[in-house]
Amino acid sequence: MLWSGWGDPAKARDLPEEITRLLGDLLGVRAPAEPAATLESVRLPPVSLAPRLLTALAGLVGAANVDTSREARVRHTRGKSTPDLLRLRAGDGADAPDAVVRPGGHDEVTEVLRLCSAERVAVIPFGGGTSVVGGLASPGPGFAGVISLDLGRMDRLTGVDAESMIATFEPGVRAPEAERLLAAHGLTLGHFPQSYEYATLGGFAAARSSGQASAGYGRFDDMVAGLTLATPAGTLELGRAPKSAAGPDLRQLVLGSEGAFGVITSLRLRVRRLPAARGFEGWRLPDFGTGAAALRALAQGGALPAVLRLSDETETMIGLARPDAIGGGDTGCLLIAGHETPAGGSAALAEARRAEVAAVLAGLGGVPLGEEPGESWARGRFEAPYLRDSLLAAGATVETLETAGFWSGLPRLYDAVRLALLGALGTPLVMCHISHVYETGASLYFTVVIAQDGDPVAQWERAKRAANEAIVTAGGTISHHHGVGRDHRDAHAAEVGPLGSAILRAVKAQVDPAGVLNPGALIA
Ligand SMILES: Cc1cc2nc3c(=O)[nH]c(=O)nc-3n(C[C@H](O)[C@H](O)[C@H](O)COP(=O)(O)OP(=O)(O)OC[C@H]3O[C@@H](n4cnc5c(N)ncnc54)[C@H](O)[C@@H]3O)c2cc1C
Repeated sequence: MLWSGWGDPAKARDLPEEITRLLGDLLGVRAPAEPAATLESVRLPPVSLAPRLLTALAGLVGAANVDTSREARVRHTRGKSTPDLLRLRAGDGADAPDAVVRPGGHDEVTEVLRLCSAERVAVIPFGGGTSVVGGLASPGPGFAGVISLDLGRMDRLTGVDAESMIATFEPGVRAPEAERLLAAHGLTLGHFPQSYEYATLGGFAAARSSGQASAGYGRFDDMVAGLTLATPAGTLELGRAPKSAAGPDLRQLVLGSEGAFGVITSLRLRVRRLPAARGFEGWRLPDFGTGAAALRALAQGGALPAVLRLSDETETMIGLARPDAIGGGDTGCLLIAGHETPAGGSAALAEARRAEVAAVLAGLGGVPLGEEPGESWARGRFEAPYLRDSLLAAGATVETLETAGFWSGLPRLYDAVRLALLGALGTPLVMCHISHVYETGASLYFTVVIAQDGDPVAQWERAKRAANEAIVTAGGTISHHHGVGRDHRDAHAAEVGPLGSAILRAVKAQVDPAGVLNPGALIA
């Protein structure tokens, strides 16, 4: 992973000259005055963890697995939101942990948590490091030090119960590796977020992730049949039956807890049979409102393809969604549907379902565009983060934010967020799509492009504040799938109210009495 950007450096993409020119003409984007920092020039605070604590940690996980090197500290500084990248590119490593600690299993995690709790050392669990909500930032003063607890060594598939269709994984397995391991058994998780290449199963559970095939496979939290949580106060083993009426479901307390309640050390995940075929197609819908109505009809009629995604007019036009595939001046809105043929299942049944989807879309004015736009979207679906790096280097800020609401409130939510972003940023490009749909509502995912001003972090923070306020006022949730972290903490507190916040604090006090687990994330 590129330390100050995204992904495999070999896949880095230069911006075509005409795009750079267009950004300049349309948005006033100019190349930044200062060159980006190098790894060697990032300003890091001195290591504040006492040598005796470093020695004690080494005694628990092995000296080779306690790393205070510059490179390890920089690579574990914050996450991968645009402000995170802008800060690192400006050489600001103030949030770096003192050390990166890599435990090899549940018992080592437990021992590390005990030690850190007794010595008041803050522990930030680290999966793939792809948080975009400040979930990995340093807690600031008040601690004897900060460690990043990198779960990358805990990367095994430890069991497959083919009869129950449950696979048990350690938390540090990255998504592509999970798919590779499962494919050997003819199985799939079906979880494909845009951060797929780097994010881990533990991170998906801890941040309630949702993938691009959520219409067919559900959100990640739907997949968690059981889990193990290591806390300073002991171990929680949760999930012993597919459904249970034995009191509140404590799994739900751990899902989305973002490292503030403990470290997920094992996950029992519902899996499915690998489909015999996956195919994508494009449709043109006349406008976003009609497109949304089509998604609602599909969700409520039970005829959902595995992938279902609708771009608004701007996103369609801008070409993230291939306007040339739509043709003409009036682009309408591009809808992508991803269909699957189950292994050993009936191809005729899959075809019938595809025809049912087509009938609903055509009935609402949809025009079929064939497979090309769909396959093209599928081929390029993990490329956007690479493009973000090129845009940052060119002097444009590109960032995303997301929310969800019930169908009846969705148009108001869409308008409110768009207006807030336009109001805060002047002349940004604001694009949106719906990519997760339910019987009762859907998510809205916004992408914003703006010329960087003298202080691009503050510029984005203003816009983000305005968008958060709009979301809260319009009745949406502060996050459908990115989580809370530090960036959404206040808005989340407003969403759950004082009693909701007090309940979360009470849980934290029970499992983490010293308050060392990811302090400041999720809960103030
Ligand atoms: C380019 C890009 C695209 C993205 N696209 C999507 C998307 O399509 N869908 C989506 O849902 N999200 C997306 N995200 C957000 C991010 O990938 C998800 O939040 C993901 O779940 C984080 O996984 P991770 O392994 O990287 O976790 P990290 O970023 O390492 O951690 C996330 C949070 O969980 C905690 N944590 C991590 N592992 C554990 C553990 N084992 N036990 C307890 N706490 C833990 C961390 O302390 C942190 O608070 C995207 C991010 C980027 C940068």
